Amino acid sequence: EETKRKYVKDKKIGEGTYAIVYLGHLRADPKSKVAIKKIKVNAEYREGLSLDAIREVKFLQELSHPNIPALYSVFSSKNQNLNLVLEYLPLGDLEQLIRDVDGVRYGTADVKAWMGMLARAVWFCHENFVLHRDIKPNNLLIAADGEIKLADFGLARSFSDPYRVMTHQVITRWYRPPELLFGARYYSGAVDIWSTGTVFAELILRTPFLAGNSDVHQLELICQFVGTPNDDNWPGVSKLPDYVPFGKDGSQSYPVRGRDFYLQTFGTVGAVGVDLLMSMLSLDPRKRVTAREVLTHKWWSTDPTPTKKEDLPKKG
Ligand code: ADP
Repeated sequence: EETKRKYVKDKKIGEGTYAIVYLGHLRADPKSKVAIKKIKVNAEYREGLSLDAIREVKFLQELSHPNIPALYSVFSSKNQNLNLVLEYLPLGDLEQLIRDVDGVRYGTADVKAWMGMLARAVWFCHENFVLHRDIKPNNLLIAADGEIKLADFGLARSFSDPYRVMTHQVITRWYRPPELLFGARYYSGAVDIWSTGTVFAELILRTPFLAGNSDVHQLELICQFVGTPNDDNWPGVSKLPDYVPFGKDGSQSYPVRGRDFYLQTFGTVGAVGVDLLMSMLSLDPRKRVTAREVLTHKWWSTDPTPTKKEDLPKKG
């Protein structure tokens, strides 16, 4: 009740699957700006959604990092709706910049700055035993100073207990790693690294790298553009619950793509950048780089220097 009176809701600024987002301000400071995210709760979904909401609250309150949106406060409104008072991020998201091909120009130094901010957010989550599990350009919101913030922790979940069985229906399909598409129940931070790699690829191509229109199609695209998973390049893959032997019975099997393919397709970020991308898109999650290894990669210190956040391109 106290917190509720502390903030005033102004106009609606966005709507997602689970939430309506309002611009708001501190009652005591009309010039302040906050985002108030009201989690939609209808009777049918009440249990599942409130669980997601509780997870988001828990993680955001615990985590404080420049690349994760600050959570100032939480209150409930009528019908036990949950309201999150969040840092206001006025400049849209990375997906809008990527798609605005005519209006927004950017280059490798900008991609390096954005990827650096994403990598630090992912590292910080993993360091705190949190998997984000839904990394995609649309969840990378942009602050007034150009800082990228990894938002939407609705799906985040602690992975401090590695033997806990987890649901594999997470992560928007295009960014989903092969182990989840094969139904792995035990997975790790490597899922976020794969998603980060597909965002990296998309920033370069300015179109989604692996845009499957079904889970099977998603796996077909992974086979074609990354390589067909088998027990040689990924020991144990055939034991996963939903494993499909792609490339058997006469259908084509693709070898794991080498440096040449990546240089041809993503060469604008240079050979060292391509090396980082390849290490994020390793089929076997155990061979994928860790968030810590991403941060110590040579690419960050290779020319060009990442663009300063104030100088990054903004939406038109
Ligand atoms: P959902 O979790 O239901 O998908 P989102 O988190 O995607 O909801 O929020 C819906 C929309 O509201 C987003 O597309 C974004 O434009 C806007 N939004 C979300 N959080 C903020 C914020 N902190 N500041 C400004 N706008 C926001």
